Amino acid sequence: MADNHKMWQELGMDVETHDLLCEALPQAFGDVFLSQKDRPNKMDYFNMVVADIHGIRPSELIEHQKNGGKVVGSFCIHVPDEVVIAAGAIATGLCSGSQFWVPGGEKVLPTATCPLIKASLGARFDRTCPFFRICDLFVGETTCDGKKKAWEVLSEDAPMYIMDIPQMKRQDDFEKWEKEIKNYIKKLEELTGNTVTQDSLHDAILTVNAKRKALQRLNEFRKLENIPISGRDVLLITQIAFYDDPKRFAQMVNILCDELEQRKKDNFSVYEKGTKRILLTGTPLSIPNWKLHQIIETSGGAVVCEEMCTGIRYSEALVNEEKASMEKMIENLAQRYLGNINCACFTPNKSRIDDIIRLAKEYKADGVIDVNLKFCNIYDIEGYFVEKALADAGIPCIGIETDYTDEDAEQLKTRIGAFIEMLS
Ligand code: SF4
Ligand code: SF4
Repeated sequence: MADNHKMWQELGMDVETHDLLCEALPQAFGDVFLSQKDRPNKMDYFNMVVADIHGIRPSELIEHQKNGGKVVGSFCIHVPDEVVIAAGAIATGLCSGSQFWVPGGEKVLPTATCPLIKASLGARFDRTCPFFRICDLFVGETTCDGKKKAWEVLSEDAPMYIMDIPQMKRQDDFEKWEKEIKNYIKKLEELTGNTVTQDSLHDAILTVNAKRKALQRLNEFRKLENIPISGRDVLLITQIAFYDDPKRFAQMVNILCDELEQRKKDNFSVYEKGTKRILLTGTPLSIPNWKLHQIIETSGGAVVCEEMCTGIRYSEALVNEEKASMEKMIENLAQRYLGNINCACFTPNKSRIDDIIRLAKEYKADGVIDVNLKFCNIYDIEGYFVEKALADAGIPCIGIETDYTDEDAEQLKTRIGAFIEMLS
């Protein structure tokens, strides 16, 4: 901890305020995770990562910088990590999921902005997150209006680069996105002084795909009748995927999956018989936002799948692994990063609705909870189609809106508890 303090001071952080966050995290983590029965032993690695989330990984990033490397932070799964890795830099996620950072965001943004955006800016402006101090470049995107405008504010304090994401998926849009990826490659080459080559891009595609494959393997266990790992633990692992070293992360997930294979053979479930299977869909749940999983899984439910960017959307589709020309590999990246992500920023967005129905069936969900972060208009409006399609498919659904505070926790417990009871 003393070493961490020194590092945080050198990063120019507000260490005193940051200590308050460090004090609160172990209690929250203990309540949500360590209190669970029958957790797999190989969750130890992920526990350790979270226990020292502002220590271990930041010090690795700083070490990389001391050796001349760069660190690039992003806020959206549309931004291809492969480009960063191919340029010899380290990619890290920056989306923030704690109420702790929201008031800082409200100093520079309207209150009626989604908590994810407010927390992200608060973490930077209040100097209370090491990742937001370390990054050499912050990569924003033009997904929702809130983010677009927030990047302008953030650029007053941080070196920003913006990728212009198309809002439709026509042929022209794919071509435009390919150009954006090419420009991003140039930007990363300038930043790092390294050239992105056919070999380095292909290696990076394999590295990120290996991470996705490990997460796919993990998610497959959630389709079983006897589920060997809780939804909370899978959420935690997915959240860590945005920060950890991709190769080590994939290795640790696969080691965990080996343990789960044995549980599968033994028909071992971490849930009691009769637990209702819930699919979550909607806005992302960034670390340490564990509120909904905790409520659902202590109210007779099991979260079996998240149709979210912090869920299946992050890992389900792979980038084509062929080693082709640069042009072709960039086209393959564009296909994956535009065609396979069904964010509500797109219009129309029917593939997301189709995905929800498909996933509800694949994961044998008894019901769906459509989650909206307060002030996220695009997911809120799309909820109309989500709920309509689920009603047509005969799958029970409730829509809920929440934020990062605990103020609505009791009310959510009542509503979610009643929904799960209704599924019985
Ligand atoms: S919800 Fe949309 S804007 Fe947010 S991370 Fe996902 S793709 Fe990006
Ligand atoms: S949750 Fe909605 S409003 Fe918030 S950043 Fe994502 S898309 Fe934008």
